[in-house]
Amino acid sequence: MASVFSRIIAGEIPSYKVAEDDNYYAFLDINPLTKGHTLVVPKQEVDYIFDLDDRTLAGMMVFAKRVAAKIRHEIACKRVAIVVLGLEVPHAHIHLIPIESENDVDFHREKLHLTPEEFQEIASKLAE
Ligand code: AMP
Repeated sequence: MASVFSRIIAGEIPSYKVAEDDNYYAFLDINPLTKGHTLVVPKQEVDYIFDLDDRTLAGMMVFAKRVAAKIRHEIACKRVAIVVLGLEVPHAHIHLIPIESENDVDFHREKLHLTPEEFQEIASKLAE
């Protein structure tokens, strides 16, 4: 069965899309730690990120770099943190999280509750 992220890429499940090319897809995390928290995924469905072939892994980082630059431009933050956990969804993904401090990458913190309109507004800004 396809992963939830493959279903998002296929358009079967809605997402707040931020960027896409032939090999990668970026969209807002539905449980954001901060405004602009984005996930970058390869279209190729592989569970563990370090099982990706070298070319796909390297390309994913370059794609994430472009998305992170856009986040940094649009969202007030000190840095865009990059985090890989992969404990929940078995489809490799990078978290890009705009941060002001270390506390902003504490995954035990309560997540933001954004309205669909707020998600859409952020995604539109990042996708421009
Ligand atoms: P992890 O696999 O531990 O890196 O966590 C998976 C991340 O995917 C979590 O931050 C979830 O909030 C996020 N997530 C799961 N399902 C969706 C979805 N349908 N749309 C957006 N984000 C999702």
